[in-house]
Amino acid sequence: MTNLTKDSTVEQLIEADKKHFIHPTTVPKTLLEDGPKAIFSEGNGVRVKDICGKSYIDGVSMLWNVNLGFGQKELADAAHEQLTKLAYSSSFYGYSNELAVRLAEKIAGIAPGDLNSVFFTSGGSESNETAFKFARFYWDLKGQSSKKNIISLKRGYHGATIATGSATGIEGFHNFSGSKDSDIIHAKPHLVNAEKGDKSDPEYKDSIRHLIETKGADQIAAVIIEPIQGAGGVHVPPEGYLQAVKKLCEENNILFIADEVICGFGRTGRMFGVENWDVVPDMMCTAKGITSGYAQLGAVLLSQEVRDTLVSYDGIIGHGFTYSGHPTACAIGLKTLEFIEENNILQNVNNMNKVLQKGFDYLVENHPHVAKTRAVGLLAGFDLMQDRDTNTPFKQSIRAARHIVDHCFDNGLILRPADFEEQVNIVAIAPPLIINKEEVEEMISIIDEALTSFEKSL
Ligand code: PMP
Repeated sequence: MTNLTKDSTVEQLIEADKKHFIHPTTVPKTLLEDGPKAIFSEGNGVRVKDICGKSYIDGVSMLWNVNLGFGQKELADAAHEQLTKLAYSSSFYGYSNELAVRLAEKIAGIAPGDLNSVFFTSGGSESNETAFKFARFYWDLKGQSSKKNIISLKRGYHGATIATGSATGIEGFHNFSGSKDSDIIHAKPHLVNAEKGDKSDPEYKDSIRHLIETKGADQIAAVIIEPIQGAGGVHVPPEGYLQAVKKLCEENNILFIADEVICGFGRTGRMFGVENWDVVPDMMCTAKGITSGYAQLGAVLLSQEVRDTLVSYDGIIGHGFTYSGHPTACAIGLKTLEFIEENNILQNVNNMNKVLQKGFDYLVENHPHVAKTRAVGLLAGFDLMQDRDTNTPFKQSIRAARHIVDHCFDNGLILRPADFEEQVNIVAIAPPLIINKEEVEEMISIIDEALTSFEKSL
């Protein structure tokens, strides 16, 4: 029996939510005590409204995915047209559909290097899981079946399946399940000199290079890296890092997988994150921005070499998802990519980056605890430090990032804390790529107020 109707009250919805809706990545106890933080009901541009009518600037594009903002009629029309024409069709057993073919060709056309073939999934975890399986299968087909291990980085986020959750290097995401993919190993991120071969680097033993030396290259299938680490706290690699890791992979016959689930499709001011460092991976995993979050879609891009090896297999490639190549999702994807090109979205991202950087300069000047501001395109963040000159973090009990994020939320701005690890207090900012100058300035002014309130609370 159901009690809810279209006319149910907010209180009834909250009660039903507590009773029936298990939320992802949420503290269940808090949810049961407080109810959902907001029940969103509509959106327009960079703003969303909750069911009580309160409006927020979505400063993180929900989960870094609603890149073109809310209420884009062109995307809705593309979905409607395809839903009424052919809502779904399968890509298994050789079947195809026009939208999947057109989107695959379009992605191949904008991707760097020879990433010319596409395997569709329903999201980021499925894309990364696919890349892991393809990497292992690739080496099987090359007669090197011992190459099974995947190296990923601490602080990286790669998904929620058992393999991609194991590749995730954020402890908070490991507590949930005892199951692990034991063929996944972690290195310390961004050790540029060590990866170039400098053994005097004090952290050499934590490097990818050292893992390869100790495990043996014949045991390692691939390295997976986010060009800029997102959920782990918006960490931008130092100059030369991605190039060094790519070279290291080439020298050791290891595939290089770029996890572009956040960076892909314009977030960093280039179409793909790796383009900021002129690196072409062997596989590139995407999702999120490919449809601006308007439908569930992911895509794994394969280099010619990986693709040629996979298609040389004369058995069935026993991998795929019901929604691989979903025509309606692909119709939205195609329209999203057209929208990005036709509306000069990359230019807007680069222009708004300057406005955001200016806002960060203001925050640094006026608030002593703001440290390490960074922004590549509209992927941005800052640390909160007890003493930024001596790099002294806040005590965990102070919960600095939560304070800022909660205060901003109360004042109509959604941001995201990255504070999974002890003494890490990072605030992440990734607004829709269509944001304008006034809206960026409004975000900065709300953060400014939140910082003042935080300083008073100390
Ligand atoms: N990789 C990265 C870099 C991500 O940020 C995410 C999601 N936050 C994923 C993979 C997993 O994507 P999904 O949640 O769509 O499975």
